[in-house]
Amino acid sequence: MKKIKIAISACLLGQQVRYNGGHKRAPFCTQVLAEWFDYVPICPEVEIGLGVPREPIRLVMENDGVKAKNVNDHKNDYTEQLVDLAQKRLPDLADVCGYIFMQKSPSCGLFRVKAYLPNGMPHNEPQTGIYAKAIDDAMPLLPKEEAGRLNDMRLRENFIIRVFGTDRWRREVLTDPTPGALVDFHRQHKFLLQAHSEVMYRDLGRIVANAGDGEKVRDEYFQLFMQCLSRQAKIKSHVNVLYHLLGFFKKELPSDAKVSIIKTIEQYQQQKVFLMTPLTLMRHYAEVHHINYLLDQVYLKPYPNELGLQNHL
Ligand code: SF4
Repeated sequence: MKKIKIAISACLLGQQVRYNGGHKRAPFCTQVLAEWFDYVPICPEVEIGLGVPREPIRLVMENDGVKAKNVNDHKNDYTEQLVDLAQKRLPDLADVCGYIFMQKSPSCGLFRVKAYLPNGMPHNEPQTGIYAKAIDDAMPLLPKEEAGRLNDMRLRENFIIRVFGTDRWRREVLTDPTPGALVDFHRQHKFLLQAHSEVMYRDLGRIVANAGDGEKVRDEYFQLFMQCLSRQAKIKSHVNVLYHLLGFFKKELPSDAKVSIIKTIEQYQQQKVFLMTPLTLMRHYAEVHHINYLLDQVYLKPYPNELGLQNHL
C-alpha cells in the first residue's frame, strides 16, 4: 500500500529545530504511524529564518489581535511572516491527508496555546499558534491533530479514521469524478458513517441522490463527510450498527454462531470487551460466507489492523 502523505511539525520527527536546539520526537509518529505515513516535515520558525538556536517567541494579545513576538523584545513581531509562510506552503500541502502539529507552540500549537498580555501577565484565553491557525483557516477540512492529544485513544482513532477517509476520498472519488464513484464511496462508508451520525449519514445520502453538478456535489458531500467523521462514535451507535450487520447473516449462520456474535455485542455494550472482538467475528463470518456487501464495508476495516486502535475502544 502506498504511504499516505502527512504534514508534521519537524521537531516531532526528532529534527533539532527547537529554539534551544532540541527536538520533541514523538515515538508514536516516528515508530508506529511512519509505517503508513510519508511525512512532510515543516518547522515554520526555521523556515522564516529565525535559525537554531534562537530566542523563543510567545503569543501576545494586542488590541488588533494575537501576535507572535520575541519573548524578550516585543518589537520583534513574526506574525506576518508566519501567516505568509502558511500561504506559501499551501501548494506543497495540496495532497497531504492530514497534519500533526506540536502542541503548546506559538507557531504550531492547534489548541490551548498560552498567550500573554503586552505587560507580560498571562492572558486567560488560550489561543491557536499563528502558523497553525493560518493553515486551519486555509484548509478547514484537512484532518489535524496535536501530537500530545494523540495519546488519547479516542482522539487518536478519530484522527486516523479521518486521515484514511481523506485518502480513500482522493483515491476513489477525486481520481474518478463520476456520479458512480460517489455512489460506491457512500455505499462502502454506510456503516462507518452511521456509527458516527445516523442523521448526517441520511443527509449525505440525499446529497448523493441529487447528484447534479458534479464538483459542487462532491464538495458538499466531502464537507459533510468530514463533519460526520469528526464526531466521536458512541458505544450505543456502534451497538446499533453491529446488530444491523448481524441482520446480513440471518440465513447463512447457524444459530450457535449468531448467539456467540450477540454475546460479544452485549459484552462490548457492557464494556467488558473492546470493539475489535465483535468486529473480528463479523469479519470472519463475512469472509467464510462470502458476504461481499459486508466485506466491502469500510466499517469492518477503517484502517490497518496493526494500528490496534479498536483494541482500545
Ligand atoms: S513547534 Fe513548530 S516551530 Fe517549534 S520547533 Fe517544532 S516545528 Fe519548529
